[in-house]
Amino acid sequence: MELHERSWVEIDLAVFRENLNFLKSFLREDQGFLQVVKADAYGHGAKEIANAALAEGAKYLGVANLDEGSILRRQGIKAPILILSPSLPDEARAIVENSLTPGVSDLQLARLLDKEAQRLGITQAIHIKLDTGMHRSGIRLEDAQSFLSEIAKFKHLEIEGIFSHFSAAEDDEGFSKAQEEGFTRLIESLAIKPKYIHLANSSALIKGYAKACNLVRFGIMSFGIDVIGDLQDNLLPVMSFKSTLSQVKRIKKGEYVGYKLSWQAPRDGLYGIIPVGYADGYDFMLSNKAVVEIAGHTAPIIGRISMDMSTVDLSSIPDVMPDEELCLLGGKSKETRAENLSALYDGSAYELLCQVGRRAKRYYLMKEQVLHSAPLARRDFIASDFADSKLSRIISQALSARLRSEEIGEMVYREILRTLIFNQDRDVHYRRNFRHLVRFDETKEGYYPAETVLTYDKVLDSDYFIVACAASDEVLRSYFLRNDVEYRWLLDSGLSLSEDTFEISSVKVGGIDLHTEIHSGEGFLEIRCHHPELANLIGKEQEFEIRTKTFYPADSHQLSVFISDLTRSVEIVFEYPQSLKKVEPVSIFSGQEKNPAMSIEEGRIRLKTKEDQWVFPLSGVVFTY
Ligand SMILES: *Cc1c(COP(=O)(O)O)cnc(C)c1O
Repeated sequence: MELHERSWVEIDLAVFRENLNFLKSFLREDQGFLQVVKADAYGHGAKEIANAALAEGAKYLGVANLDEGSILRRQGIKAPILILSPSLPDEARAIVENSLTPGVSDLQLARLLDKEAQRLGITQAIHIKLDTGMHRSGIRLEDAQSFLSEIAKFKHLEIEGIFSHFSAAEDDEGFSKAQEEGFTRLIESLAIKPKYIHLANSSALIKGYAKACNLVRFGIMSFGIDVIGDLQDNLLPVMSFKSTLSQVKRIKKGEYVGYKLSWQAPRDGLYGIIPVGYADGYDFMLSNKAVVEIAGHTAPIIGRISMDMSTVDLSSIPDVMPDEELCLLGGKSKETRAENLSALYDGSAYELLCQVGRRAKRYYLMKEQVLHSAPLARRDFIASDFADSKLSRIISQALSARLRSEEIGEMVYREILRTLIFNQDRDVHYRRNFRHLVRFDETKEGYYPAETVLTYDKVLDSDYFIVACAASDEVLRSYFLRNDVEYRWLLDSGLSLSEDTFEISSVKVGGIDLHTEIHSGEGFLEIRCHHPELANLIGKEQEFEIRTKTFYPADSHQLSVFISDLTRSVEIVFEYPQSLKKVEPVSIFSGQEKNPAMSIEEGRIRLKTKEDQWVFPLSGVVFTY
């Protein structure tokens, strides 16, 4: 793999699925599993883990809070999602609107949820959280019956599940059994049993405390962390945190390495610099304790881990070169497993995974092959809506942000592209090599006869499309909401709309001359463009060419040409007669290139972005004359 970063995280989804299969082998026929993806799936990426788990048959997903749940919804996850932690009263509306299932252990939240569900005319599923001894959130067991009967009074709530959580399933048998017993007794006393009954996390399943459940919540062990202690051959780390040596240096006996002189060389030797520190999530507590995997060996971390660097003893592997790849966490050797590293400082493997996931760029693998990567700034900005019709709003927000800060503008720009283009769940059919020519002839009766030629490449998505001319802003606006309208024009109000004032000269797709059918009505003229052969071209990129003839008012003194779709490389040309002496272009471009190249000649102005540059909708140019 050609990777040139200071550090990165590899997430092996094939390993994840193997771990799931190991855990699933402990489930009874009547038991399903919920995949916990809170904290961005313990630093592994919530969306990718959710999709892999759903492919393995997960019945439910679990998140920590509303935000995590609604991000998954925006990422297109349709599966049921349980919010494991208590929600705030303010969050009730968004929970209902995002079809999330909250864990409920107080009446105030239940009341608000009920109200919101009523407003939307739906029944809201909830899971009741019980406290069986952990004494964190949840209803105490002795209060559970009366709580349940209070909840039953809410007409718009449905108790779909009931659950509790273990404090120490991995290593406290006595306490766990007591928790299990309390839970089981309560469930048995219920007249009506909810659909989902769940208590066990991953280690509890393996330890055999999941008998009362029909749903088991998989967390840490699905990521290959053996919190029990004898399963390191059955569970393999999904995450590997890697880096490359940035320098190899010699050290003499008696010299010190790092802050506070905490390591002194016992003999002359070699050591290396790793461009990763505690700010990258490589825990400071691993100073002088951890080992890293390098060139088929393990080598000890020496000295204190700094904010952005660490040092490793290479004395026993003298052939190592700078640039050598190394693995700090995960990988093949047992010593670099998260549970073994965190044990060195009595820390938590859960925490180590979460903190490493925070800063490094992620690469998703399936058996050594890179599927895709999640960029570093993956959580900088989440567009509030992914629907096409809302695109303009997102873009305009992005623009206003950019006006205040270039940096934010850049970030938003990258995020929008990522959302639109790199998100593999979507087919975004953007335009390429877009060229728009407008040519004015000498005025006639207060109007310039105007010819427009539009050419671009785009994937054809239907066997027809519409070219439309509107007589009012309102009608024009409605055309922007339609997917089947390729080109729109607003006719001046001084003209009456007819085939004489708006005419299609020709429409071609992939060289085929399309048939045109005119359909007109109050304030609009629509030309339906079609051809039987188009059906065979659907899904393929085609060259479009649309030529029209119309009129433009001379007293308007300005002509605007806007880009209405996401477009890759744009050229806009305005040709005008001698009588128009002074034409000035004002361009407003957003996207990669804010100032496209402009050429002004006698009677012709041309703006052109560089090849392959992305241009956002609402970009364009206003020619004043
Ligand atoms: C985090 C969490 C889990 C997952 O537990 P693991 O020990 O990681 O398997 C299960 N249930 C609840 C309520 C949780 O918060």
